[in-house]
Amino acid sequence: MPCYLVYTNERTHEIIRSNLDRAPLFTGLIKGVGPRYCPSIEDKIVRFAHKEHHPLFLEPEGWETNEVYIQGANTSLPEDVQLDMLRTIPALEQVEMIRVGYAIEYDYVPPSQISATLETKLVPCLFLAGQINGTTGYEEAAGQGLIAGINAALRANGKSPLLVRRDQGYIAVMIDDLTTKELSEPYRLLTSRAEYRLLLRQDNADLRLTPIGYQVGLIDRDRYEAVEERRQKIGEELDRLKKTYFTHSERSINALEFLRRPEVSYQELITLGYGSIGLATNVAEQVEIEAKYEGYIKKQRVELARMTRLEGQHVPHRFDYDAITGLRYEARQKLKRFQPATLGQASRIDGVTPADMAILMVHLKRGWE
Ligand SMILES: Cc1cc2nc3c(=O)[nH]c(=O)nc-3n(C[C@H](O)[C@H](O)[C@H](O)COP(=O)(O)OP(=O)(O)OC[C@H]3O[C@@H](n4cnc5c(N)ncnc54)[C@H](O)[C@@H]3O)c2cc1C
Repeated sequence: MPCYLVYTNERTHEIIRSNLDRAPLFTGLIKGVGPRYCPSIEDKIVRFAHKEHHPLFLEPEGWETNEVYIQGANTSLPEDVQLDMLRTIPALEQVEMIRVGYAIEYDYVPPSQISATLETKLVPCLFLAGQINGTTGYEEAAGQGLIAGINAALRANGKSPLLVRRDQGYIAVMIDDLTTKELSEPYRLLTSRAEYRLLLRQDNADLRLTPIGYQVGLIDRDRYEAVEERRQKIGEELDRLKKTYFTHSERSINALEFLRRPEVSYQELITLGYGSIGLATNVAEQVEIEAKYEGYIKKQRVELARMTRLEGQHVPHRFDYDAITGLRYEARQKLKRFQPATLGQASRIDGVTPADMAILMVHLKRGWE
């Protein structure tokens, strides 16, 4: 269905500005911080005061209704102001409102009260997902729903929980952030939140996640085996290219090094007679990516190995942080509150410094010996 684009103008902005004292988001009646990525229209007028107009999309609600949703105009302003501001837009001079815009404030469960399986710490066997955990967004809710559902099922069947690592998927980045960091605004998952961005690629999602899906019984054997076969072929081809030497510009070079050059594609290797003609496109693509970014990917893997060591070191349940002398007050409070399950989690808690980690590690080691 066609949607239409209109713009606010100086008159619209004037009406909004002169009524800000009636907007609960501004008067302090609503204390929460709204989602940064969908600000209200009054928020936009204040935060982006230099903008002369803002776009509004007129979106028909369906085939069998004459209702039109105004995307981009979410607001907490009173009804009379909403109508006045809409009518300043030429296309909407005679508009009628069927439903008034309103702002809502959600409560949520503080991050320190949920564990990485998305089970609440206070009520065992209660799993939470989505907005109630302080996030906003469709994918955020869906991703948590998947993990909470898997873990609830595993728990009901007496199996060990599924904990996805930050280097395995964005879902894990989100859940780890949610359970180790203080939220100051609704959480949204952004690629920039992942430290292993080079490993978390769309093109290798099946290689990263299929084994996990198979392990928990959500992926069948055929699909799992097809992915493992692809993984093996990628490895074999990378090995073969590494061992294939030829002379280029009077210098001996192996095919993998050659492929690393920005201007060289796998197709070119085939043309030169060094590629494998029958190689599936999705294998050749991975080979090319692995070759071109090898240096950077290696660096991330080294950093990852360091973190994985911490990830593997468990902190005993209900560990007595008060018994450790030398921990800073803030770190002690945060560790007591979040009760991290591993040293890796502890290291990511806001307010726990590397020095605190060193003290904690010494104490835990003593316990292990
Ligand atoms: C106007 C608007 C536009 C948005 N636009 C976008 C967008 O473009 N992109 C995006 O990614 N996100 C957007 N969001 C955010 C996104 O919709 C939510 O973050 C997401 O849907 C939350 O999913 P959820 O499953 O956590 O909660 P919800 O979808 O709110 O589900 C909670 C469910 O629980 C039910 N429920 C509540 N209490 C009870 C009870 N006592 N008993 C039984 N059931 C109960 C509710 O009826 C509801 O169905 C938008 C949100 C709004 C309001």
